[in-house]
Amino acid sequence: MKPAASLSRSSPRFLALARIVGEKQVHIDDEFYRDCHVDAIKISRTPLAAVEVTTAEQLPEIIRIARDERFPLIPRGAGTGLTGGAVAERDGVVVSLALLNRILELDTQSQLAIVEPGVITQEVADAAAQVGLFYPPDPASLKESTIGGNVAECAGGLQCKKYGVTRDYVLGMEGYTMDGELLRTGYFAPDAPLDLTSLVIGSEGTLCFITKIALQLITPPESRRSYLMTFARQEDAAAVVAASIGSGVVPAVLEFMDGDAVALALNYLGWVDMKRPEAVLLLELDGSVAEIERDHAILDPLIRQNNPLAFESTPDGARREHLWTLRRSISPAVAASAPIRLCEDVCVPPSQFPSLIKHVVKLGKAHDLRVLSFGHAGDGNLHVYLMADKDNEETHQRIDNASADLLSLAVELDGTISGEHGIGITKRKYLPLEISSTTMEVLRKVKGVFDPEELLNPDKIF
Ligand SMILES: Cc1cc2nc3c(=O)[nH]c(=O)nc-3n(C[C@H](O)[C@H](O)[C@H](O)COP(=O)(O)OP(=O)(O)OC[C@H]3O[C@@H](n4cnc5c(N)ncnc54)[C@H](O)[C@@H]3O)c2cc1C
Repeated sequence: MKPAASLSRSSPRFLALARIVGEKQVHIDDEFYRDCHVDAIKISRTPLAAVEVTTAEQLPEIIRIARDERFPLIPRGAGTGLTGGAVAERDGVVVSLALLNRILELDTQSQLAIVEPGVITQEVADAAAQVGLFYPPDPASLKESTIGGNVAECAGGLQCKKYGVTRDYVLGMEGYTMDGELLRTGYFAPDAPLDLTSLVIGSEGTLCFITKIALQLITPPESRRSYLMTFARQEDAAAVVAASIGSGVVPAVLEFMDGDAVALALNYLGWVDMKRPEAVLLLELDGSVAEIERDHAILDPLIRQNNPLAFESTPDGARREHLWTLRRSISPAVAASAPIRLCEDVCVPPSQFPSLIKHVVKLGKAHDLRVLSFGHAGDGNLHVYLMADKDNEETHQRIDNASADLLSLAVELDGTISGEHGIGITKRKYLPLEISSTTMEVLRKVKGVFDPEELLNPDKIF
C-alpha cells in the first residue's frame, strides 16, 4: 500500500523528527529521499520520510515518536539489499544508519574490531589489513554495502566456502529494540546466558536497530593463487566443481558463471577477443606457499582432465585482479542491460549443483525470459537473474512464475530459497515452502518479544 504523499514540512511528525536529528537530516523531496524508495532490486515503495541519524542516541527518541504516533520505522544501510528489506512496505519512515560510520577500535592483540553499523564493508577489510589482520566476509557488494546491513542480512560472499559468512565473525552487538532501550549482546554482555547475537544476525532489521558491532578478525593467508577456466559444456565445469570438492582441497573461492552471464560481462567490458564459452569457473587458493603448491599439484591435473577450453592460473596480484574483473562485471552488466530484473539466490547441497544448473537453462524458455546464472559454486549458492525489458503486469507475472518454479526446485533438491540475500518482501510468500507452520509461529512470537506493536520493518519475512 502506498501513501498519498510524503510528510509536509509543517506536519507535527516532520517537526518532531527534525527536532531530534536536525531539519537537514529529514528528507521528504530530495535525491536521498528518492533513493530510499528502492533497494538494489528496484521495487519502489514511497516512505513518509527518510531520516539520517548522526548519533545512536537519537534512536530512542525517534522510536518513542513512532510508537506514540503508530508509524513504522525501517532501518537502512546502503540500500544494496536484493529483497526489498530496506524499503517502506507500509506508510513508514526509513531510518538511515549510514552516517554512523566510525571504526571505534582495532585491537590487534585480541584480533577484533568495534565498529558502527554504517562503516562500508571494504573499509572494515582495509582497516584490518592495515594492521596485518583479515576480515574475510566479502559480499560482491563490499565496496558499497554497510557492515550493519551485512549483519542484518547475514551476508555471505565469495570466500564463504572456506571462511564462512558474516555470522561467523560477529562477536556481539549493541542496538535498540522498539522499547527504546539499549540491547547489549555477546561481547558487550558476556554473562548473558542466551545467544541473542545469533538471533539478531540475519533478522533483516525486524528485531532491532544495530548500532555497534564487535567483529572477529583473523590472521591473513600468506599468499594466493587464482585460476580461470572456460568450458564448452556446463557439465565439464560442474565436474571440476565436484572433483575439486571431492579432492579435499578447500578453495577460498569457487565461482561459477554460465555462458550468458559471461557473454553479457564480455560485452560490457568490451573484451571482444575472448570467445563466449558455455561456462567459466574462477577458483582461488590461499594459505602458505607450501599449502598452495600442494593443492595446486592436486587441482591442476583434475582441471585438465575435464576439457577446459582455456585454463590459466597465476599468483601474480595484477593478473589476478584482471581475471576477477570478469566476475565483478556481471552485476553492473545486468543492471545496464535489463531494466526489469529479479535476482534469486537459491542454494543447494553441492552434490545437487549440476541438477540446479541444468534446470536454470530451461527456465528462460519455459517462461519466455532472459535468464543467466552465476554464483558461489563451492557451497552450492547460485544467483539467477530473471530479466525482461518491458515493465508491464504480464512481464512481472512471468518473472513471478519463473521465480516460484526455481524456488520450489531448490527446496526439492534439499536446498534453500535464499543462500544469502534474505527474505525481505520478495521471498516472503515462499518461506512456507521450507519452513513449517510451527517454526513460523515460533519466529513470529520471537518477533513479538522485540517488537510487540509490529512497528519495526513490518511486512518483511514474517
Ligand atoms: C552488486 C551486488 C552484489 C551483491 N553481492 C552479495 C553477495 O555476494 N553476498 C550477499 O550476501 N549479498 C550480496 N548482495 C546483497 C547486499 O549487498 C547485502 O544484503 C548487504 O548485506 C546489504 O547491506 P546494505 O548496507 O546495503 O543494507 P540495506 O540494503 O540498506 O538493508 C538490508 C537489510 O538490513 C537492514 N538493516 C540495514 N542496516 C541495519 C542496521 N544498522 N540495523 C538493523 N537493520 C539494518 C534493513 O532494514 C534491510 O532489511 C549484493 C548486492 C548487490 C547490489
